[in-house]
Amino acid sequence: MSRSSLLRCASGSLLLAASSFFASTHAADAVQEVRLYALDCGRIQVKDMGMFSDTGEYNGKSGVLSDPCFVIRHPKGVLVWDTGLGDKLAETKGGIDIPVGHMQVDVTLLDQLKAIGLTPADVSYLSFSHTHFDHTGNANEFPGATWILSKAEIAWAESKPGAFVNIDTFGDYKTAKTQMIDGDYDVFGDGSVMILKTPGHTPGHQSLELKLKKSGVVILSGDLFHQRDNYRFRRVPPFNVERADTLASIDRVNTILKNTKGRLVVQHDANDFKSLPKFPKYLD
Ligand SMILES: [Zn+2]
Repeated sequence: MSRSSLLRCASGSLLLAASSFFASTHAADAVQEVRLYALDCGRIQVKDMGMFSDTGEYNGKSGVLSDPCFVIRHPKGVLVWDTGLGDKLAETKGGIDIPVGHMQVDVTLLDQLKAIGLTPADVSYLSFSHTHFDHTGNANEFPGATWILSKAEIAWAESKPGAFVNIDTFGDYKTAKTQMIDGDYDVFGDGSVMILKTPGHTPGHQSLELKLKKSGVVILSGDLFHQRDNYRFRRVPPFNVERADTLASIDRVNTILKNTKGRLVVQHDANDFKSLPKFPKYLD
């Protein structure tokens, strides 16, 4: 190899190294508009869906809940909303049995982040709709993010409210940087990504409202609704902490959807999940 081609090679690989360094450190702020990515963070087969309506419509019927995580990329940073069942479960091919049925993770959250050029260190903010285990599974993967947490939800979770809350799955909230909130919260300060206070399922339950340039208003339900029919028919699960609060939250979200001609995504509804652009495609 001649001296000049050697130099070309060396400068080429330097350039390559510099560009991949740039890509890995600045991937998080590379977008111009807000994007919503829906990631597959597992699914739960439920033997008796009766637990999702206290008026009996689902009694004895089986069903499947999708369990997505969401990545919201904003020019000013990255928000992860809900973290699924936990990547650890992917190590058990075919999933595991649980008292209500069976749960399974086919692909890890971290691998999906990698597919869009992100590492946990690129995630600026982490927030949950609520602290049930199927939303907190991968929380501790993000110790460097600012955790936006409902005061009421954390106080409730710390009171050991039962088997659906496993505080260890999000134990890093004790050491991470936190932003404690007790109402609506504007994540990036421009109104495009709003956490909405929607209590009832749990005391500090929240939903997420996005204002996307092409797609308009999109609301991620959290567990305000578990199935599309819970939205259609105002069905309330018997294990919600407060029925009246749930109905008030449903009224609020329904009115916002009507006023904004918004789109609702019922996170646990498998058809709603399927209707979103297939990852790594996104809604913008
Ligand atoms: Zn859930």
